[in-house]
Amino acid sequence: MASVTLTDVSRVFPDGTRALWRVDLGIADGELLVVTGPSGSGKSTVLRVVAGLDPVSSGSVHIDGQEVTNLPPRGRDVAMVLQDAGLYPHLTVAGNMGFGLKVHGVPRDEVGRRVSAEARVLGLQAQLRRLPRTLSAGHRRRAALGRATTRVPRVFLLDEPLVNLDAAERTRVRAELVQLQKGLGVTTVHVTHDQSEALAMGDRVAVLRDGQVQQVATPAALLDRPVNRFVAEFVGFPDMRFVEAAVTDEAGLSWLVVGSQRLRIPGGLPGPLRRHVGRRVLVGLRAHLLRDAGSRPDCPVDRRLRGTVTRVERMGHADIVGVRVEGSELSALYPPYAGPAGGAPVELAVDTAGAQIFDPVTEAAIWHGRGV
Ligand code: ADP
Repeated sequence: MASVTLTDVSRVFPDGTRALWRVDLGIADGELLVVTGPSGSGKSTVLRVVAGLDPVSSGSVHIDGQEVTNLPPRGRDVAMVLQDAGLYPHLTVAGNMGFGLKVHGVPRDEVGRRVSAEARVLGLQAQLRRLPRTLSAGHRRRAALGRATTRVPRVFLLDEPLVNLDAAERTRVRAELVQLQKGLGVTTVHVTHDQSEALAMGDRVAVLRDGQVQQVATPAALLDRPVNRFVAEFVGFPDMRFVEAAVTDEAGLSWLVVGSQRLRIPGGLPGPLRRHVGRRVLVGLRAHLLRDAGSRPDCPVDRRLRGTVTRVERMGHADIVGVRVEGSELSALYPPYAGPAGGAPVELAVDTAGAQIFDPVTEAAIWHGRGV
């Protein structure tokens, strides 16, 4: 077990591409940190730099307080699971899982014991004697995890280990993976482009964009207090939608002016918004903050927005309804099968106290409303 620290790490290619740029990242002993971000944001590079597979252009990497920046992979005692599973095709599942132990000179009996214990955890007992090519994608993935986990390293590095699994299996394996990680207490860096997987698994989540860390925080803090529009938009479901508004304060009443419509902010302007009176802001709203005004007769008229339905997504437990409001598309939450058809005019009750407000130029957060 060990902590991992990246200090001011950059990795710049000769063509000038910054795969990582001035990254500071600390992973505590025993922590499961998920690194997420869009494709090409530098997620795999973080893992490869920790593993020692990629050199850094500048900065340093420490594992357990020891500088490993220039140490080859085998000197680092980390185990990495790659997207393509990377199983040895000529070895059985048991052979693959025990491989790391054998090369480290663990006695045969002990290898057998650890492999069967791990196979029990991963639900692979029936597959132990089979070759990788005869396995389903899900079992192959588990065998690859098993190979990394039978030999407990100081750090696990998991690169999209659940990609290619079907939705049901992904949910199951991800819960098992968290259980396994917590059971072993091994410091783990897990990479995924899937923000819902990141939120579901991570003790903390690091969001990357163009090789730069945007925010590292617990899932709840990322959702409730995103540092900028990018993070707000990247994490959470239903996704956050944005509409521009002007902030006004007239005779003690505070308003967000959205095109020809106005939303009153009950209780006056929150402190950080006062500096923006007379200026434009971006108002971020998730679907649960916008409801059919017909079902909220107690919602005052000055807290409503009118718009036109653009699309309806039937989720089963609710309908997510796209509504065009003054040129922007917002999402509203309707009861199951209650979403009106495309083109219908609607009026929405807006819970502005839950909004998140951003600077339209810098996109930095100005104010976070009540969290979920
Ligand atoms: P992710 O895992 O988030 O998809 P990567 O870490 O794989 O991102 O890549 C980060 C960035 O580095 C990408 O923009 C990618 O195109 C770039 N990159 C990777 N290898 C090279 C290379 N050999 N030369 C130039 N750019 C590269």
